[in-house]
Amino acid sequence: MSRRVLLKLSGEAFGGGEVGVDTSIIRRFAGEIHEAVAAGVQVCIVIGGGNFFRGEELSQAGIDRNRGDYMGMLGTVMNCLALQDFLEQEGVPTRVQTAIAMGQVAEPYIPLKADRHMEKGRVVIFGAGAGMPYFSTDTVSIQRALEMNCECVLMGKNGVDAVYDSDPRKNPDAKRLSELTYTDALVNNLAVMDAAALSLGRTNHVSMRVFGLDTPGNITKALVGGLEAKGLGTLVHEK
Ligand code: UDP
Repeated sequence: MSRRVLLKLSGEAFGGGEVGVDTSIIRRFAGEIHEAVAAGVQVCIVIGGGNFFRGEELSQAGIDRNRGDYMGMLGTVMNCLALQDFLEQEGVPTRVQTAIAMGQVAEPYIPLKADRHMEKGRVVIFGAGAGMPYFSTDTVSIQRALEMNCECVLMGKNGVDAVYDSDPRKNPDAKRLSELTYTDALVNNLAVMDAAALSLGRTNHVSMRVFGLDTPGNITKALVGGLEAKGLGTLVHEK
């Protein structure tokens, strides 16, 4: 049976640091995913939406939090469509499934159907997060990986190459961690992802590799190597 993994792509990376999409970056991501699919890996993907909107930031600017979160979720769908287009151009068959129904652009989220798509070699891209305000796409990545029986979550981050014991952009002495438990991340309040995501991963013993999206080739390495991709980023698990 082929291996199945869940890839999380940060929305920030899709925008290349700007609002909107940086097509050259998404084209590169599609090429890297194509290589892994050609090697026989079953891939499903969750994409963030930080390059468009984050509900929390919108609420600080005066927009109702719930509405802002829905705007954030809709942003993730635009990223899904952009990635879908470049994957299809590469000859990789894809389906987008969204947690908020929008029949003209995507299938609704139907787990059994997603399962079948992946068995047929299609890449399934999950959009609109969980369809619920107050969640993050990191939390959704762990939930989808569990529901889709993925071997692990491969969490691609923008601007960092691994988890550190403090922010490497602020502290030059920050220590790079090759391995970490969910409990340590929670207890030490490490800014790797939100506490809801860490807690879901801990409770359900999800294995995760956090890695950087800036270095070309990392996505293929993560997808093909999975938990065995030694030296790539940080392995997060619960012993
Ligand atoms: N969001 C939400 N529910 C979800 C997933 C996302 O409300 O299940 C909203 C939330 O406002 C979030 C935004 O969508 O800030 C974009 O997602 P996220 O911040 O996780 O994207 P990333 O940081 O990975 O780019």
